[in-house]
Amino acid sequence: MATKSTPDIVFSCPLCRGSLVTHSGAVGHSVTCAHCRETIVVPLAPAVTDATLAPGVRRVNTKIKKEEVLNPLAAELATMTLLYSETRAQLAAVREELHQTRLQEEQANVQIDARIRDLQRQLDRVINRLAASPKQPRV
Ligand SMILES: [Zn+2]
Repeated sequence: MATKSTPDIVFSCPLCRGSLVTHSGAVGHSVTCAHCRETIVVPLAPAVTDATLAPGVRRVNTKIKKEEVLNPLAAELATMTLLYSETRAQLAAVREELHQTRLQEEQANVQIDARIRDLQRQLDRVINRLAASPKQPRV
C-alpha cells in the first residue's frame, strides 16, 4: 500500500479483468499483473485513495476504468474500420482502372489487327501488280 502522499489508483487488468491497485505515479508505466502475470500499462485515471472509497464508489470507479480501456480500443477499431473501407474503395478504383485499361488494350488490339490486314491487302496489291507486269521478274 502506498503512502498518503501518493494516492492509490484502482484499475482492472485489460487482459484478465483482475482488480489491481497501484500508486498514481505508475500511470503510463508497465507493470506485471498480479493475477495473470502479463505485462500491462497502468491506464490514465483520476487518482483515488482507498480511504475515500466506499464499496459502491469503487464499483463505479472500476466501470470508469473499463471505459478508459475500452474507449481507446473502440477508437482504434473505428480507425481500422475507416482504413479498411478506404482501402476497399482504393482497391475498387484500381480494379476499375485496370478494367478500363484492358478495354483500351482490346480496342488497341482491334485497331492494330485492322491496320495489319489493311497493310497486308496493300502489300498483296503491290505483289499482284508486280506479278502482272511482264517487265518485272517474279518475286
Ligand atoms: Zn491480468
